Amino acid sequence: MQSKKRIRAIGVAVALIVATLLAGCAQTPAATAKAAFKAGTYTASAKGMGGDVAVSVTFSATDIVSVKVDQHKETPGVSDAAIKNIPSKIVQGQTLNVDVVAGASVSSRAILAAVEECVKKAGGDVPALKAKKVAAVAKAADVTETADVVIIGAGGAGLAAAVTAHQAGSSVIVLEKMPKVGGNTIISGAAYNSADPARQALSPAEAGPEATIQTLISAKPASDLHAQMQAQLKKDYEAYKASGAKGLFDSPILHALQTYEGGDRVGDLALIKNYTSRTLDGVKWLESLGMKFNDTCFTVLGALWQRSHKPVKPLGTGYIDTYTTYISANKIPVMLETTAKKVIMKNGRAVGVEAVGPTGNKITINAKKGVIIATGGFAKNIEMRQKYNKHWKTLDASIMSTNHPGATGDGIVMGEAAGADLVGMEWIQLLPMGDPQTGSLSGNIEQGVEDRIFVNKQGNRFVDEGARRDTMTNALFQQEGSTMWVVLDKHSYPTGATKNNFNETIDELVAAGRAYKADTIEALAAQIKVPAANLAKAVADFNANVDAKTKDAFGRTLYSHKIDTAPYYAGARVPTVHHTMGGVKVNTDCQVIDKSGKIIAGLYAAGEVTGGLHGSNRLGGNALADTVVNGRIAGASAAAAK
Ligand code: ADP
Repeated sequence: MQSKKRIRAIGVAVALIVATLLAGCAQTPAATAKAAFKAGTYTASAKGMGGDVAVSVTFSATDIVSVKVDQHKETPGVSDAAIKNIPSKIVQGQTLNVDVVAGASVSSRAILAAVEECVKKAGGDVPALKAKKVAAVAKAADVTETADVVIIGAGGAGLAAAVTAHQAGSSVIVLEKMPKVGGNTIISGAAYNSADPARQALSPAEAGPEATIQTLISAKPASDLHAQMQAQLKKDYEAYKASGAKGLFDSPILHALQTYEGGDRVGDLALIKNYTSRTLDGVKWLESLGMKFNDTCFTVLGALWQRSHKPVKPLGTGYIDTYTTYISANKIPVMLETTAKKVIMKNGRAVGVEAVGPTGNKITINAKKGVIIATGGFAKNIEMRQKYNKHWKTLDASIMSTNHPGATGDGIVMGEAAGADLVGMEWIQLLPMGDPQTGSLSGNIEQGVEDRIFVNKQGNRFVDEGARRDTMTNALFQQEGSTMWVVLDKHSYPTGATKNNFNETIDELVAAGRAYKADTIEALAAQIKVPAANLAKAVADFNANVDAKTKDAFGRTLYSHKIDTAPYYAGARVPTVHHTMGGVKVNTDCQVIDKSGKIIAGLYAAGEVTGGLHGSNRLGGNALADTVVNGRIAGASAAAAK
């Protein structure tokens, strides 16, 4: 039950947000000289992220009266802010000079281009409307508010924390600097690793992974905890073999040891063990909130094991929709376009957050119980990349990123200013899967690890495609032009309407020239301009190993189908910065730790802003589970604080 006081606090906060937003919209119409149009409604469309965006624009003789987006195939959640804000800004400012919405720039540009077309049809003056500046927004009043728990960042970790703290009876306010929630989580591949007996019972046991388990068990232990976990894995695996079970073996301890070894033993084993012991509970919690996952597990790139859960909804929208449904139903205030600048400290305790609102106004949120930093990583902050990088030749602007524009490391800077220790900052993950034009994961045609190969410009394979992400990316940097082709067949795309992880159909990608399709391997080779004999040999050798199911010449052990069924597809990929493993130091309760090893009272952190979980290399599928597991822990810890 909510106390009256809390309801009032939330009510006030909601009113303030509404007031702030209204102030943000109160742009002085910049029209001095009136434009001239042929009155009427005109329609046009332009290419967005997922296909055509169709708009209709109504003009009077002097004004743009309304702009409506009639049809689009943009990803829900990712493009919402553009679809909502761009039309209203055009009408309010009577201008085509509207800033694109960060994180939804392709959708924004599509709407602007289609409206421009309508202006042309209505005989309007496009250059004048493009040059017309909107008057500066008046600064809204400063805001001071109070909640039990204040959360910085409305990505996966921040929203999981918000829901959990609220479920535990706390009042919550979330601050988000972008015009929309979701962060990197909403544009991620969204795979979630967890041992899951029910789903994995449906996955057949494979021969290759037996060697993986034996290697983990027999490695020289680094600590008593490590030795205990190895003994537990041995016991669990022997029990599994004795049981005659047919499904794939897995357990939280196997997941933990793969995470630890996969990160070169750099990670904190206590954090890892705590995390893998709670991932399945995280799946069940999400399902209790209405989220849906597929019935079987797959192996996402770099996951090393078939324990990745795939949400039914595209990208990370399933997680974010689940959280926002709860947040709306419970009226938890989320203040958009509000950038946290500082954690307010009093007598060594975090007691609030200072932020800047949408109009440059000062926002102060006092926290009665705690502040949670959930601001994500710094893959989009080139200065920070260059400052901390020790392992890649360069991470300057020549290397793109899969991340959204808000991934600028703010929480690491704020955490450090509040006294936090930082761990593992040098470990920055690249993927070999970037779009050659943008670095994004969009257009990536792979579906899972088992069914595709990578070839270089000579049509030759060059790496174990089931290896760690750093291994694959390092190998890609050695290839001509640091560019490769992902090659697969009908097993990955049973029909042209089958979608990739980015909600794009293979037919759309082929039509847009972002993927290639052919009836034979030779014809595919001709399209992508690699020597046909080499590509044919690469595929034939791969297929022989699928039959043999043994380690191949590159060390690959993960297989499912042969590449032998037309149509065949190929798509180009380059290295791209994906995840920053280092960050604020935390303990297993997500309390932030200072440079002398002490807990900073009232300060919590979760998600990519933290360091220590993934070590030197994050396994594919471990980030989303991190946001859920540790977001929940941070929310519960802060809510329980005195
Ligand atoms: P995680 O996966 O750890 O949850 P995400 O990238 O999904 O990380 O989410 C982090 C969120 O934090 C993003 O929505 C980002 O815009 C937001 N954020 C980053 N810096 C700030 C800041 N200074 N103030 C408010 N929000 C921020």
